[in-house]
Amino acid sequence: MNYLDEQEVKKHISILNVAYQLCLEIVDERGTEYKAICPFCGYNKNSKVSTLSLNSKNNKYHCVRCGAGGYSIGLYARMKKISNQEAYKELLDRECYSQNKVAVEISPINLLADIQLRDRVYRDLLDMLKLEGQHRNYLRRIGLLDSSIEDNLYRTVPKKYIKRRLISNILSKKYDLAGIPGFFQEEDFNWCFNKYNGFFIPVFDDNGYIQGLSVHLDQSFNNTEDIWFSSNNKINGTATKNYIMKSNITSNTTSAILTDNFILGNLIKDSLNMPVISFQNISNSYMILKEIENTNIKNITFIIRIPNCNNNLDYIINRIFRDLLPLGYNLDTKCISNFNEIFDLDFFDETFNVNYTLKSSA
Ligand SMILES: [Zn+2]
Repeated sequence: MNYLDEQEVKKHISILNVAYQLCLEIVDERGTEYKAICPFCGYNKNSKVSTLSLNSKNNKYHCVRCGAGGYSIGLYARMKKISNQEAYKELLDRECYSQNKVAVEISPINLLADIQLRDRVYRDLLDMLKLEGQHRNYLRRIGLLDSSIEDNLYRTVPKKYIKRRLISNILSKKYDLAGIPGFFQEEDFNWCFNKYNGFFIPVFDDNGYIQGLSVHLDQSFNNTEDIWFSSNNKINGTATKNYIMKSNITSNTTSAILTDNFILGNLIKDSLNMPVISFQNISNSYMILKEIENTNIKNITFIIRIPNCNNNLDYIINRIFRDLLPLGYNLDTKCISNFNEIFDLDFFDETFNVNYTLKSSA
């Protein structure tokens, strides 16, 4: 690439794509000006003002508090602690060169409560709920043992409005629910949470804390059966994050299974006792790569559910594989049409397909 071309490309490395890759929290949008939580000086709890501006027109950033500023490449380089030249290369690889702005999610200003508080609130909530017969039977049919159903704290979302109000009221007397995804205030300022036809799946972190709740819907909505318990765009609501759950993974673990479904992840964790990383609704591979980079895992098997697999997942697999292949990881994919297939004796026996070919992806 000649110098002038390079300069031209640099100008178009989208600040929004870069913010997305860095998992920065965008909290406001005004035309081409975006506000985000500054990754260098943080979030001002008192003023509730986000100090970092991202300009999608000239791809520059600036923080009014700590003075950090520059172009998108520099932001990426500074956060990843690499040189601008390396950042430039990585961003081209990560397809951040774009003249079109990406769709960014605007999250409300409510700061996510810390993990201990989220864990306490969600555990109290689940304590007040039960798992109804149809959901218990569904989980049994999939192959989960009763002990596993108990341990994973699955609970049916209450259908009755008055019950959800009552439970929320009890919780709001004990905890500040501003900052707990899923809860919001109604016009009369009483707390509540949404009705879903389905059941809660707690998503635990490495220490056994509940990071967030996934909801498994009885019927798919917008092409997905699994959504996050979240309350952005509601009065005093809080957006959730896309949490990742690592199970049975220690410093000795070298092989792991990757799945985009928490129930399948729990099934692999409990019934097969195998190391597994589960996620859902993730639109960039960065988070998963970060999780894998912090382990000694070298062999990764991605389980793809047919026909539930969507284009987005295909894209994610491609991205993850493209990022991991050059680093010497052994990668493989296995397709299943039914959860029970993982119990087939030879399901995980085959050797790794190192020559996984990357399909053309968006
Ligand atoms: Zn700052």
